[in-house]
Amino acid sequence: MTALDVSPPEPAPQPASVRPMALAFEGVSHSYGRGWAVEDVTFSVTPGSVVALLGESGCGKSTLLRIAAGVERPVRGVVSLGGRAVSGDGAFLPPEKRGVGLMFQDYALFPHMSLLANVTFGLRGRPRADALSTARARLAQVGLSTHERKHPGELSGGEQQRAALARAVAPQPGLLLMDEPFSGLDRRLRDSVRDDTLAVLRESGATAVIVTHDPEEAMRMADRIVLMRRGRVAQQGAPEELYRAPASLFAARFFSEINEIPCVVKNGRATSALGDVAAPGVEDGPAILAIRPHGLRIGPRGQGAAGRIVERRFLGETEQATIVVDGLDAPLRARRPAGEAPVPGADVGVTLCGAETLVFAADGA
Ligand code: ADP
Ligand code: MG
Repeated sequence: MTALDVSPPEPAPQPASVRPMALAFEGVSHSYGRGWAVEDVTFSVTPGSVVALLGESGCGKSTLLRIAAGVERPVRGVVSLGGRAVSGDGAFLPPEKRGVGLMFQDYALFPHMSLLANVTFGLRGRPRADALSTARARLAQVGLSTHERKHPGELSGGEQQRAALARAVAPQPGLLLMDEPFSGLDRRLRDSVRDDTLAVLRESGATAVIVTHDPEEAMRMADRIVLMRRGRVAQQGAPEELYRAPASLFAARFFSEINEIPCVVKNGRATSALGDVAAPGVEDGPAILAIRPHGLRIGPRGQGAAGRIVERRFLGETEQATIVVDGLDAPLRARRPAGEAPVPGADVGVTLCGAETLVFAADGA
């Protein structure tokens, strides 16, 4: 800078501070013509929080996201944004008026435009210098400053997804809707892009809804999870709540591999071939004991139920042992820290850890 150059430095662009928006679904149902794609769905997302819509393929997750974005009009129910009805109740606010950002797995960047042009695209209508400095700040935030002149085809999958994130947050949406945004990435890349995305989300302060079929991804990213099943909400709550206290066998199966064995409940206790556990609130009668693989203890023969190890698989930090137990039709799968599972052929005794065991009514799936 020379003595004559007295122009003040350009002010640094402010970090994307947004007014996070609340989102609420109330009794929302939608049909594409045959049956309900989503049925009577009610949940709400508090401003600034991250909610995961979790469930297997076809359960209605993308439909809910499209309804929130306004590209689909629900047949029944009310959707509100920031406390104001935007669908239903006689209201309909078109997508472009909702102030919502979208990021989809196949929401491709424009291939013929540079990254900088892609990110400024959503900032049309702003003064050019402002749009450019905002776009550059967002690209810097996702570590792509040095790539701003490149075209999407010159970037890796992870970089493209980071660029898509920069583009989605640049206009400072109060709500960001993301549909399986990481499913096109390989596992290791997914972890880092996921963590970066969460950091950007937290920094921007936007409310976010993330669609995923991966329970681990939902637990890693979300403050709350809405677990869907066949168009309906199966359970909603904090990640730990869904994992520790699944309301159904379906929810338990969704979050981890489980061993299911028959048991009989009487006066709040379940009796099975592996012993007794507490079953508070479960009706008397035949029921199902759901045991997580790390809830099975393997000891010497004589302790608990008699069993034999038939297979052992090394999985890195843990080992998986397959055990045939006297009196049970199906073999059990146990997880132990690596090096602790007995060798195949060993005679063992199997007991339960109550904390990793859940009891469900026999028809409760
Ligand atoms: P998910 O995202 O959980 O996989 P979707 O919301 O895409 O589920 O789909 C829910 C149900 O609605 C599925 O049975 C699907 O086949 C159906 N569906 C989704 N989109 C359409 C459409 N445009 N036309 C007809 N049926 C659709
Ligand atoms: Mg989908």
